[in-house]
Amino acid sequence: MTKKYVYDFREGNKDMKSLLGGKGANLAEMTCLGLRVPPGFTVTTEACNRFYDEEEVLWDSLKEEIKTHIHDIENQIGKKFSDENNPLLFSVRSGAVFSMPGMMDTILNLGLNDKAVIGLARSTGNERFAYDSYRRFIQMFSDVAMEVPKSFFDSVLEEVKEKVGAEKDTDLSAEDLKLIVDQFKKIYEREIGEAFPQDPLDQLYLATQAVFKSWNNSRARIYRRLHEIPDNLGTAVNIQSMVFGNMGDTSGTGVAFSRNPATGENELFGEFLVDAQGEDVVAGIRTPEEIHELNRIMPDVYKQFLDTSEKLEKHYKDMQDLEFTIENGILYILQTRNGKRTTQAAINIAVDMVNEGLITKEEAIMRIEPNSLSQLLHPNFDEKELKESEVITKGLAASPGAASGRIYFSSKDSVEAVERGEKVIIVRQETSPEDIEGMIIAEGILTSRGGMTSHAAVVARGMGKCCVAGANEVRVDEAQKIMKAGNKVYKEGDVISLDGTTGYVYNGEIKKVDPELAGSFEIFMGWVNELKRLEVRTNADTPRDAKVALAFGAEGIGLCRTEHMFFQEDRILAVREMILAKNINQRLKALEKIQPIQKDDFYNIFKTMAGKPVTVRLLDPPLHEFIPSSEEDLRKLAEDLNMDFNNILDTVKELREVNPMLGHRGCRLAITYPEIYRMQVRAIMEAALQLKEEGVEAVVEIMIPLVGEKKELEFVKSEIVDEIASVFEENSDRIDHKIGTMIEVPRAALLADHIAEEAEFFSFGTNDMTQMTFGFSRDDAGKFLSEYVEKNILPKSPFETLDKDGVGILLEIAVEKGKSTRSDIHLGVCGEHGGDPDSIEFFNKIGLDYVSCSPFRVPIARLAAAQSNLKSKE
Ligand code: ADP
Ligand code: MG
Ligand code: MG
Repeated sequence: MTKKYVYDFREGNKDMKSLLGGKGANLAEMTCLGLRVPPGFTVTTEACNRFYDEEEVLWDSLKEEIKTHIHDIENQIGKKFSDENNPLLFSVRSGAVFSMPGMMDTILNLGLNDKAVIGLARSTGNERFAYDSYRRFIQMFSDVAMEVPKSFFDSVLEEVKEKVGAEKDTDLSAEDLKLIVDQFKKIYEREIGEAFPQDPLDQLYLATQAVFKSWNNSRARIYRRLHEIPDNLGTAVNIQSMVFGNMGDTSGTGVAFSRNPATGENELFGEFLVDAQGEDVVAGIRTPEEIHELNRIMPDVYKQFLDTSEKLEKHYKDMQDLEFTIENGILYILQTRNGKRTTQAAINIAVDMVNEGLITKEEAIMRIEPNSLSQLLHPNFDEKELKESEVITKGLAASPGAASGRIYFSSKDSVEAVERGEKVIIVRQETSPEDIEGMIIAEGILTSRGGMTSHAAVVARGMGKCCVAGANEVRVDEAQKIMKAGNKVYKEGDVISLDGTTGYVYNGEIKKVDPELAGSFEIFMGWVNELKRLEVRTNADTPRDAKVALAFGAEGIGLCRTEHMFFQEDRILAVREMILAKNINQRLKALEKIQPIQKDDFYNIFKTMAGKPVTVRLLDPPLHEFIPSSEEDLRKLAEDLNMDFNNILDTVKELREVNPMLGHRGCRLAITYPEIYRMQVRAIMEAALQLKEEGVEAVVEIMIPLVGEKKELEFVKSEIVDEIASVFEENSDRIDHKIGTMIEVPRAALLADHIAEEAEFFSFGTNDMTQMTFGFSRDDAGKFLSEYVEKNILPKSPFETLDKDGVGILLEIAVEKGKSTRSDIHLGVCGEHGGDPDSIEFFNKIGLDYVSCSPFRVPIARLAAAQSNLKSKE
């Protein structure tokens, strides 16, 4: 049997997305549900892939298959393709597997030619409408299929409008439109060197090819890269009979969401335009009306639409994004898909739908992309400063968030400014897919035109980026690079602030504050906790970070880096004195100064964490990191410490290392200078003791970095920790503590069974482990890793997502060996990977007990932990 490349809408269903594309599969599903969908058929993604194999031409049998389906549609609706009396017209719509808003272009009214337009006028009794459709078709076909710039046509349209005194497109008469059609055809002929194609089949084949080709245009490629969509999926082409929203006052077109995509509120949300076709609503040429207005103008249609929206939502069990057209009072549904939404809305909707009994908690949890939570965790504007700020204008609150930055008026200028290190707000009349790069790197997006479903709004919500759209009081002049609000002019580089939650635009920069997380978020995260197995801790070195992390649900500190404490101003001098000491006595004297300060640090952190575990890592970095490098600073240091400058210089030279990452650091420091760790352990114990006396329990875990050999750990334990602990015990001040080690040197993973005999817990330091397993210097790999990814040598930077194939094996070995000698060994991760959802899935799989990540990633890690646990049970 020969392969089938074309499917009627009646033959497909929603689960056939990879073959029919998202749009095609859903059109088929809606057709089968009995909704009023204009008949049509889908040319498959497999045809697109074969098109590329066939050197980008349509092969004969495909053309035959298409013709058969055209006949079928003709029979269904009683119109004929290329008929001079009652012509059948088509829309040609691209449809990839994943929806890519605005990335691929649609051609409407295909099938019109000089004769059919007369037939259309006659059969509808509406000549104006017929020529309006024809001029749209010529422009779209030329632009999408033949790459003739749209602007050539727009300027003719504007000229004619001006000449006849028409304000809107709808003011043009049939005669005006005929004139426009003639001129449009001339533009085509001039640009292409051939007359505008009159054979509808030719038109259809050319349009189909154009859709296939658009799969590979640069905008589509950029979008795919941004969303990690593979390049080899291909797009389907949907060929669908036209319905007309531009037939007068009882016709129209619109887009709507079954719930509010910005807040999640359970209410129809959208826009429509009377007497309009296709892209008019999103193009921002005329300002659309709010969807509830439809209830006033055409109550029956409104009610039908509301019913359809509810029906589809129940059917798909998710919020829907719908496109519709009304032709002479009859409602047609042209598209549905799961709607893009802000994270806030996504959580509200998920929680509501669980309460409505539509989905389960587990389904709710699987629906939220863990990384998207960062949208909620990031700061809002400080209320007080906000009140005092000068309002420039108010637009639509298109995508929430708070952003300040310098304004730039093109994608290119924005990109260049960001490269210079500036924060940027991209300002456009209306964005288009060409602006995508600028939108990606900007802090926020401001447009003066377009509605809640305009390109800017949709794309910004998808990216989780702050956007104020349709701020129509400001005049944006992209050529002059200025923005006018009233009589004030803002130039390129001026600083403004956007509040995407209210739509207000402010002059200057505004301070930001941390968000409050309550309501649905709390309920949702409660479910997350019920369904996860991994414990989520945080990396925190200060009580402040610890507090933030606790508010985000951290269950302990998995990594408290003591070196960050060393750097603080009130002690760095003592630390330097300690490092520059010429002998042990001098060093001990300096350590005596540091000890009480360090005790205070631990006291405050233990107190903040009240009863939750705190893993303290003893000093890790090489000592020279604490000494300044410039001569000037060194002279100052000599003065402050009352030491001889040359003397200091000598020590600095001694400390210098060729390869510090592999040098004198971690537990190696303790082997040479045990007194440093002794001071730290004493500080920890004293802090814990003081809290104990105050009735607060400190759960202390002491972690030794960079161990590669069991005897290193033995040494630190017996010569340092146990020795100090015994002093406390003599005074019967026993402080319970665990001793464990980081597993970050590959040798430690390989000998984990031996090491586990001395270690009560392992914390995988996956940053160093990745560095040492690949032999990639963490500090230098940035220079070449991006090329590795671009050239497909590595799928991602292994410092972002754990390399399961290599580093992962070391982890598995360490887990197995560690458990073989200590079955209850506690296992965790404290590298950057502890906050990365993909890596967390792996950590869950290999049976770790906890992950630790930076405070702002804690909720993300919690959600990822719950999702990986649910996935592992599937
Ligand atoms: P996009 O993926 O960019 O939304 P679509 O293929 O959905 O592109 O087409 C855009 C718009 O064109 C639709 O929202 C609809 O208004 C109009 N359109 C598409 N097909 C038809 C049709 N068969 N009849 C009338 N209008 C159509
Ligand atoms: Mg669409
Ligand atoms: Mg390390």
